[in-house]
Amino acid sequence: MPQGDIFRMSIKYVKGVGEARARLLAKLGIYTVNDALNFFPRDYQDRSILKKINELQDGEECSVKATLVSDVTESKPRRNLSIIKTLVSDGTAFLSMTWFNQGYIKNYLKNGTEYVFFGKVKRNGMRLEMHNPVIETAEQSGKYTGRILPVYPLTKGLTQTHLRTVIENSLKLAENKFEEILPQNLREKYNLSQIGFSYEEIHFPQSLHHMEQARRRLVFEELLTLQLCLLKSKGISKEQKGNRFEPVDMSPLLNKLTFKLTSAQKKVFEEICNDMQSDRKMNRLIQGDVGSGKTIVAVMAIYMAAKNGYQSAFMVPTEILAEQHYRSVKQLFEDLGISVRLLTGSTKKKEKEEIKALAREGKIDVLIGTHAILEDDTEFYKLGLVITDEQHRFGVRQRAKLSVKGENPDLLVMTATPIPRTLTLTLYGDLDVSIIDELPPERKPIDTYAVNESYRERVYKFIRKNVAEGRQAYIVCPLVEDSGQIEAESAEGLAERIRDNELKGLRVGLIHGKMKSSEKDKVMRKFVDGQIDVLVSTTVIEVGVNVPNANLMVIENAERFGLSQLHQLRGRVGRGKYKSYCILFNQSKSDIARQRMEIMTSINNGFVISEKDLELRGPGDVFGVRQHGLPELKIANLYRDMDILKDVQKAVKHIIDNNLLLNDEYMLLNKKLDDIIKEKFNEISLN
Ligand code: ADP
Ligand code: MG
Repeated sequence: MPQGDIFRMSIKYVKGVGEARARLLAKLGIYTVNDALNFFPRDYQDRSILKKINELQDGEECSVKATLVSDVTESKPRRNLSIIKTLVSDGTAFLSMTWFNQGYIKNYLKNGTEYVFFGKVKRNGMRLEMHNPVIETAEQSGKYTGRILPVYPLTKGLTQTHLRTVIENSLKLAENKFEEILPQNLREKYNLSQIGFSYEEIHFPQSLHHMEQARRRLVFEELLTLQLCLLKSKGISKEQKGNRFEPVDMSPLLNKLTFKLTSAQKKVFEEICNDMQSDRKMNRLIQGDVGSGKTIVAVMAIYMAAKNGYQSAFMVPTEILAEQHYRSVKQLFEDLGISVRLLTGSTKKKEKEEIKALAREGKIDVLIGTHAILEDDTEFYKLGLVITDEQHRFGVRQRAKLSVKGENPDLLVMTATPIPRTLTLTLYGDLDVSIIDELPPERKPIDTYAVNESYRERVYKFIRKNVAEGRQAYIVCPLVEDSGQIEAESAEGLAERIRDNELKGLRVGLIHGKMKSSEKDKVMRKFVDGQIDVLVSTTVIEVGVNVPNANLMVIENAERFGLSQLHQLRGRVGRGKYKSYCILFNQSKSDIARQRMEIMTSINNGFVISEKDLELRGPGDVFGVRQHGLPELKIANLYRDMDILKDVQKAVKHIIDNNLLLNDEYMLLNKKLDDIIKEKFNEISLN
């Protein structure tokens, strides 16, 4: 879409709008003609099917062309009710027409005249009838009947008819002014219709086939630009050269493990090995369900880098997790001659400086930490490998930032939020994907129960019973709003209450996002050491933390969490040899909440859950995309548009590999990408 004047014109100047209606349109995000054109129908009503009356079926919606064969009668059985009736025929049969409280209709209808009616057919005894049909004279028909009409999302005060008129008038203004940004050969190759046609037909399709064609093109363009923008803003071009590592004998490390690797872990490490031993830069995403053992795979890659004389950076989203990784990695590497240090926001200034100096001189092999690693003055002597754990917490920018901190270090990204495949392709189109699709043996499924308030007492009893057997429990409270205040209070309130009442006598700890890192660490360490029986927390414990003795996870207001998040939280238990449980307090009576709880109680596989999550949330609320700081999708639906996405993937690869964006025919597309990056990608969040 070019930024021609017409497209940027305020919507209030479009025929039929004006100030008042413009305010309503603003509520839908429509400020300009361009916004109106990109406000896509959520559905269509097919009024194009014209049927003979004798073919009509009870319950169907369609149009008929018929002549009035009786006078119009009006009755007023009650004060607020007027009923208008007439009879029509098309020569095949008769059809009764009834309108309720639409008195003006009677002035419009004339005995002997032919009209087109659209409505739902109802059987009434022997006779068929339509209630409140839409009506046009046969001569003028084509606007409200006899064609496919768009159905838009609405806001109070605006009707479908208003919105249709606004968009129709916007289309008229834009006619012949659309700018084609996709080169012809690309459109031909992927069967993409022209831009003008696409906008016309997505709003007012001649046929459903045309609509599908239009939609395909618009979805393709949306996903293509998103993906190219991602690649451009990351500065990633073709395959990059990276370091070539020599094979390493892994047995000293493997001998220190108390378990045997699963075959999935072995397979994924092999893939990593191949990447590292080639001179191509590794760009690999490891997906694995919670508890599938991603960390050790990362540690093996670090070991390999270190034995090749390269440093590694291991970045995680929270200090607690950094601490935990640090402790376990350090313990593994202690007598293998590999030095490990921890750098987080709460590292003391003096120590920070010392660590940074050592990293610069190459005297640290592995630096584990939070965002602090990203600070500009952290430099490495010879950085060969960058690992980010629980990637979904990092923005795209950060990934880019870290990978420039060395001479093209290999990149390993790990995520425990299983991402639906479509989303993986969209967000990480530039990454190769490895999946650890197997849990370590002897891991028992976590029994999950969704309960309501009436179970509260029993749940506390159950907690007491488990604690009496030496186990520990988590109770997670939702982050009510994006406000630290509320978050702290609700976890705090609960902790106070159960400490003095329901769970009196047990050691109840509290941890939440408003606490200082040092305090959080103190509490967490106590929990790890078994000095706390019940840990009340917000979602700060969501990722990665490992306390094998905890076997019970209670989640308050579970209806407020996303399914994937619930699965993450549940993954905090079931990490040891004890039978584990997850109890979801569901305070909602809605169907959706019930369905979601049902999914949680019946499915233990994170990948399946994330697919369901995407399916349930449906179009418009795309899982995780906003969380990743990406622009919202207007028309593409990552759940349904997998096939288009695959084509987009191919096109993107072709464009990048052949450096096509610099060609003349891609000039307009390239310019649009720059515009979008400037406008939207600057807001990428750093949470
Ligand atoms: P995640 O994939 O969720 O990050 P972790 O790497 O934290 O999982 O591993 C979870 C737990 O499983 C850790 O205690 C780890 O030592 C253990 N573990 C990892 N691999 C295996 C294995 N092959 N057999 C048994 N336990 C394992
Ligand atoms: Mg992990």
